[in-house]
Amino acid sequence: MSDIILKAENLTFEYIQDEDGEKVSALDNVSIEIEKGSFTAIIGRNGSGKSTFAKNANALLLPSSGTMYVGSMDTKDESKIWDIRQLVGMVFQNPDNQLVSSIVEDDVAFGPENLGIEPEVIRQRVDEALTDVNMYQHRKKAPHMLSGGQKQRVAIAGTIAMRPDCIVFDEPTAMLDPSGRVEVMEIIKKLNSEGITCILITHFMEEAAEADRVIIMDGGHVVMDGTPSEIFAQPDKIRDINLDVPVAVDIADRLRKKGIDVPLNIISTEDLIKWVLA
Ligand code: ADP
Ligand code: MG
Repeated sequence: MSDIILKAENLTFEYIQDEDGEKVSALDNVSIEIEKGSFTAIIGRNGSGKSTFAKNANALLLPSSGTMYVGSMDTKDESKIWDIRQLVGMVFQNPDNQLVSSIVEDDVAFGPENLGIEPEVIRQRVDEALTDVNMYQHRKKAPHMLSGGQKQRVAIAGTIAMRPDCIVFDEPTAMLDPSGRVEVMEIIKKLNSEGITCILITHFMEEAAEADRVIIMDGGHVVMDGTPSEIFAQPDKIRDINLDVPVAVDIADRLRKKGIDVPLNIISTEDLIKWVLA
């Protein structure tokens, strides 16, 4: 149990519609364990329940039934809510909605200030967090002067300044240009290598392929769960869920269907190039 940081046990979540009071089931009896220090990608088409799962992971939403554990804490335990939110940080899609101050470093200090941390310690954490995301040199700038990728990295710094054990990234690259997406992916991989458990919700299959584990959700259920090689070795099954596969997986699959014996463990463009040149 000690090496499991997040555990959803028969987690069911229903939204109640404001207008008519009708219930919308977003998660149906989901059980997932996330290992400490791991890097998990969650993919699935729109409305499959990914964001609802993310919000249950740090008690922004509470289960309709079943349980979400953060470490040994049950998210329904109101006395633990701040410990839970400190332990599991969140980064959302739109960096503009996450940046609240007019100066980058003030923004990063916002979270730790709310935790009631000493000013000298905050100073140190802010500098470290900005250094970690390669934004220290921009600390005095106004967030609106930054590129999308830079803004998202400031938002990530604001989260890591709270020293979370786990960060859930909910489509953090969806609004970024290709270079911004690469910048943010590099930071996520770096934070994971430093020991932070990372959960990345994404609709970019190339990003999912970089995780240790890929979970596919559909209709509020987990429908596939495995390593990227295990998952992307089943391209037809993934297409049946109306999802794409990484470009390299698609090419390898099409070659295989033409009778060429391409190994199943090709998931990245680099893998494909290596195989072609071998
Ligand atoms: P995803 O992040 O995979 O796109 P969500 O978790 O946002 O999926 O949504 C899952 C389901 O819950 C969808 O059917 C969606 O329409 C519904 N839903 C999400 N947010 C709300 C809400 N605030 N009120 C009512 N229904 C919602
Ligand atoms: Mg979502």
